[in-house]
Amino acid sequence: MSDTLEHIVIVGAGAAGLMAARELARAGRRVTILEARARCGGRIYPLPAADFGYQAAGGAEFVHGEAPVTRALLAEAGLSFEAIEGTQWSFDHGKLSREARHDPHEAELHRVVKGLKDDLTVAGFLRRNFADSQYESLRQSVERMVEGYDAADPERASTLALRDEWMDGGRHMQARPVGGYGALIAFLEAEGRALGVDIRLGCVVSGIEEAGGRVVVHCGNGEVHHGDAAVLTVPLPLLKEIALPPVAREKAAAAADIGFGNVIKILLRFESRWWLDRQADLTDLTFLLSDEKIPVWWTQHPAERAVLTGWFGGPQTAGLAGLGEAELIQAGLASLAGIFGLSPDDLAQRLLAARAINWAHDPFARGAYSWATPQTRDAQSVLASADGAAVLFSGEALYRGRDMGTVEAALASGQETAAVILKGVSGKTKATR
Ligand SMILES: Cc1cc2nc3c(=O)[nH]c(=O)nc-3n(C[C@H](O)[C@H](O)[C@H](O)COP(=O)(O)OP(=O)(O)OC[C@H]3O[C@@H](n4cnc5c(N)ncnc54)[C@H](O)[C@@H]3O)c2cc1C
Repeated sequence: MSDTLEHIVIVGAGAAGLMAARELARAGRRVTILEARARCGGRIYPLPAADFGYQAAGGAEFVHGEAPVTRALLAEAGLSFEAIEGTQWSFDHGKLSREARHDPHEAELHRVVKGLKDDLTVAGFLRRNFADSQYESLRQSVERMVEGYDAADPERASTLALRDEWMDGGRHMQARPVGGYGALIAFLEAEGRALGVDIRLGCVVSGIEEAGGRVVVHCGNGEVHHGDAAVLTVPLPLLKEIALPPVAREKAAAAADIGFGNVIKILLRFESRWWLDRQADLTDLTFLLSDEKIPVWWTQHPAERAVLTGWFGGPQTAGLAGLGEAELIQAGLASLAGIFGLSPDDLAQRLLAARAINWAHDPFARGAYSWATPQTRDAQSVLASADGAAVLFSGEALYRGRDMGTVEAALASGQETAAVILKGVSGKTKATR
């Protein structure tokens, strides 16, 4: 790779790409971002406020866990976040109840998982330790969490990576950024542009070549960009579609050891919060977990918006792959009708706006987010190793901290990649102009 590292070409204007760009531009580097979509944000996807009455989120919505990079950035942008407080309900075997699901064997699960030394898959772990029929509901609830929250396949997912989450009783949905993550993206985009970052929308990168220690990046629209290094932040499934120089291609093969799951997200805006008429004490309803086809629902509480969001994650979403948006909306209405004892037609008449996004069908995401297998940490080390390479990998899937597959993971990874470049990837420092 070039000694100078003067001009960096970043592929993808999601959280990772924009964060890396800002850090590099702040340090005086020239940065070009090539983004396939007509907008920035990637899997942060704000929907029009006119449709939902606020800037609803078609992609990322919650701040999980401590998320130090996200929280610092929100503060810098003058944005705040709102804690999620309220009551979780569940609907099982025809009954709506207030209690969060607690399994009588949960303490035993925590004890066994705490003592685990060597990693194995979640399904393997359950077979080894909780195969007995008395643990059937425990097995089900663990699998449901792994599939639903992490969008992961229990037959491949790492037990050690999910351990902390289990101890917490599930991935913590602690807060929402006020104004949505879209406001954070708008801030990063504006910062980047003010620092001179050239953001080129509608550029689908098809290939990267290395020539004379520099990179040549080709876009589907015929544009060709030259740089000293390229940073690829595209979601893992898209890596296969970009022609890469041999060393980068070899590294990219490691991505096969990182899981990538799917989510179907359904947003329904009604005329009113009709669910309050069904059951008076649903006023502070947050999450509702059910055994319906679209199993998880949530409100915008404490905001009094008449919007319900449905969530279906994991390998079983493949069963709905044949459904178009209108049919997914129908499936969402049918699930709500089943939970609340109403007719789907009745609910449909109360709809003001609806969206259903099957992320597997998004051409520039091909799914929702990554999750860890027992081989993922090694794969991430291979992908993240810079060692003089002119093509670097970044993005949420490269994050080696606790909450993979999050906005925090993407921001932190973008920041880390920028730091690696600024240090001088191959031990060389930026040449003076
Ligand atoms: C439905 C859903 C819900 C989620 N909920 C949450 C949540 O509540 N909280 C949370 O923290 N995280 C959540 N996430 C995860 C979070 O959105 C992602 O981890 C994060 O936004 C990923 O950022 P990134 O920059 O790594 O990737 P991306 O945002 O995917 O950015 C990569 C960019 O590359 C572009 N691209 C792809 N191919 C090409 C190409 N060939 N040429 C040029 N550009 C290309 C894409 O268009 C995209 O803009 C959710 C994700 C989904 C899908």
